[in-house]
Amino acid sequence: MLKKKNFYINGKWTSPKNQKDIEVINPATEQKCAVISLGGKEDINDAVLAAKEAFKTWGYSKKEERISLLEKFYELYKKRWNDITEAITLEMGAPKDFASKLQTGTGASHTKSFIKYLKNFEFEKPLGDHAKNQRILYEPKGVCALITPWNWPMNQVCLKVIPALAAGCTMVLKPSELAPLSSMILAELIDETKFPKGVFNLVNGDGATTGDALTSHPDVNMISFTGSTRAGALISQNAAKDFKRVSLELGGKGANIIFKDSDPEAIERGALRCFRNSGQSCNAPTRMLIEKSIYKDAIERLKKYANEFKVDDPNKEGDHIGPVISEVQFNKIQKLIQKGIEEGANLVAGGPGKPEGLNEGYYVKPTVFVDVKNDMEIAKTEIFGPVLSVIPFESEEQAIEIANDTPYGLTNYIQTQDNEKVRRVARKLRSGMVDVNGAGIAVDAPFGGYKHSGIGREAGKEGLIEFLEVKSVGGWN
Ligand code: NAD
Repeated sequence: MLKKKNFYINGKWTSPKNQKDIEVINPATEQKCAVISLGGKEDINDAVLAAKEAFKTWGYSKKEERISLLEKFYELYKKRWNDITEAITLEMGAPKDFASKLQTGTGASHTKSFIKYLKNFEFEKPLGDHAKNQRILYEPKGVCALITPWNWPMNQVCLKVIPALAAGCTMVLKPSELAPLSSMILAELIDETKFPKGVFNLVNGDGATTGDALTSHPDVNMISFTGSTRAGALISQNAAKDFKRVSLELGGKGANIIFKDSDPEAIERGALRCFRNSGQSCNAPTRMLIEKSIYKDAIERLKKYANEFKVDDPNKEGDHIGPVISEVQFNKIQKLIQKGIEEGANLVAGGPGKPEGLNEGYYVKPTVFVDVKNDMEIAKTEIFGPVLSVIPFESEEQAIEIANDTPYGLTNYIQTQDNEKVRRVARKLRSGMVDVNGAGIAVDAPFGGYKHSGIGREAGKEGLIEFLEVKSVGGWN
């Protein structure tokens, strides 16, 4: 079992002030795989103090210095690729090929992209030709609390740590207590890169103790949080007391609108996007809206696809999905599947229990409910497992209405060959992102939600600006 009890504070690995252990469970075996520590108020104080002190110089560092350190970090990240991948497979059960290509891969591509945007970003510029002595300055927000979930560990961490470093902020990262191991490798990389001490700090722990201490600390200037809508609301309350800047990336319940003129692969592609990462993606299209005239045929295809969909050990190569993260999550998914049956949705694939031959590990059957009504629990709640709810629709207007009838607004999906229809529908969907015909959202496109899906944007130029304050200076000659 891995022993990872220290925190990274002020450029050193340090032991916690009061030792309290948290066990990390491998979801594929249900066995302990590592032990970490639960950070208390004193550890958070030390980390925030180190970040506050470091900000006095790092906050005024030259852009060239930050570019050169980030480029070195990027090279080191690529050298530890396999270690990061193995840690992700162990801590959250992502199958090794998926973990390498997508989980570790997105961390790298965001890092590369932020370096590009940093190089081109103008931190000082005139307001315009009409007001030459008016200067706009973009300055780092200060000490940042970065709190991340377990489902895309390196993706989420790099979406915060890298732009924060690029902006000149200093930070305390609290990764998910369920999947902290890849983040600890990232801390080793920061150390090896030789970022000045105190610029980056890592304290492990849970939400109620460590996360709460961090987000309520008076010397934290900004909170960037990715996780559940529930925790996002609690964090916002802490932030409101002293007007901390807040960026929230929360849950989703995306609709995938399949019009009758969609391309031949749209149905299977939609199911794959729902099941991928064992259904544990905030932007998963978990409600499939299908136009009535193709509904019957689509259901047959979904039935076949889901029944043949492979679930297996994450340590095997291949394009299967692995287990879900934890026993708690497994039980929540089982309850919701049961609820779907009780509510009268029609189960055509999967269902309660574990897939055959996978009795150990938190494995869930890829599940499809059809004839779902949008006010059923399975259509309203973010299940965060491989469970698809299929809802029929008759007209474009009705599809838009169903898609928008949710508190969430992260990613919606459209499948049609009619470009005019794409533009009409995309404009009416109340979500931060719309993915058309499987095109995908670019690595540097703004990522974020409307409504209960969050506040702010990550990735690319907007993701860098999130970590900057804007200052106007008049009389700059
Ligand atoms: P979670 O909210 O339980 O935990 C996320 C992080 O917040 C963890 O590090 C946890 O320790 C911490 N935390 C929990 N309660 C806290 C509190 N009161 N104060 C401070 N910190 C607290 O979420 P999760 O189960 O780890 O992740 C799944 C959720 O994340 C899903 O809802 C998913 O949609 C969402 N998510 C959103 C995005 C996005 O970009 N919109 C991306 C990935 C995941």
